[in-house]
Amino acid sequence: MKNKTVLVTGSASGIGKAAAELFAQNGANVVVSDVQAEAGKAVIDQIIKNGGKAAFFRAEVSKPEDMEALVDFAVKTYGRLDIAVNNAGIGGEQNPIADMSIEGWNKVIAVNLSSVFYGMKYQIAAMLKTGGGSIVNISSILGSVGFGNAAAYTAAKHALIGLTQTAALEYSAMNIRTNAVGPGFIETPLLSGLDAEMKKGLISLHPIGRLGKSEEVAELIYWLGSDKSSFVTGSYYPIDGGYLSR
Ligand code: NAP
Repeated sequence: MKNKTVLVTGSASGIGKAAAELFAQNGANVVVSDVQAEAGKAVIDQIIKNGGKAAFFRAEVSKPEDMEALVDFAVKTYGRLDIAVNNAGIGGEQNPIADMSIEGWNKVIAVNLSSVFYGMKYQIAAMLKTGGGSIVNISSILGSVGFGNAAAYTAAKHALIGLTQTAALEYSAMNIRTNAVGPGFIETPLLSGLDAEMKKGLISLHPIGRLGKSEEVAELIYWLGSDKSSFVTGSYYPIDGGYLSR
């Protein structure tokens, strides 16, 4: 990862933070980005304290201008962009379809789906200038099956896979690989609203008998970002403790 530049959206917390830290441990220049500026700066402070290289840029992923500015920042700061992890996402409104508000639908589609199109648009343009790169989009197990009360979330996460595959068709020959990751339920602040009973119910959906850890997902993101996965493009990788095997 030496001399490679990686940007990770939503990396002040959870899966994105673990991925940013893993890339930094392996020598990459890491651009940490999030709406949570204080927490994001704390992530880069820790990386730098541990001898890594990192810079923070605040970006709201549902704003195209922020996604363009984020790529510009990475290129200005480190000279190039090699790897982009489109990770920021929200759970959003939980209601059955007939009760879901239009605002709730639009918000999740903006943050979890349109954001990734905006990100890829500018990330790919930057990567084409320097000979290629690798893009990892964070989908979910809910990118391949449904889940009650989460219509917008499941729709967005399914769509991310089609977007990832289409980018692979368009750009693999230009040395830009694009892949999607499908985590099962992972212990992050995104799940902080769950009570003990709900958590037990979720655990029971994972044959491995527990929820996942951010660090476990980060390993897969790292591999897909790195040259170790040089023949992998247009793929969707569940990492789910067996959830999708049920
Ligand atoms: P997390 O701990 O909540 O971290 C996500 C980070 O992204 C937070 O700092 C969050 O800030 C930030 N963020 C939210 N909306 C943003 C926006 N519009 N622009 C920029 N940053 C924004 O979540 P996580 O569990 O690590 O999830 C990361 C990704 O994995 C998401 O795409 C999620 O859908 C996916 N995923 C998670 C799980 C799971 O069980 N945890 C399972 C499958 C897939 P706020 O705190 O202000 O929201």
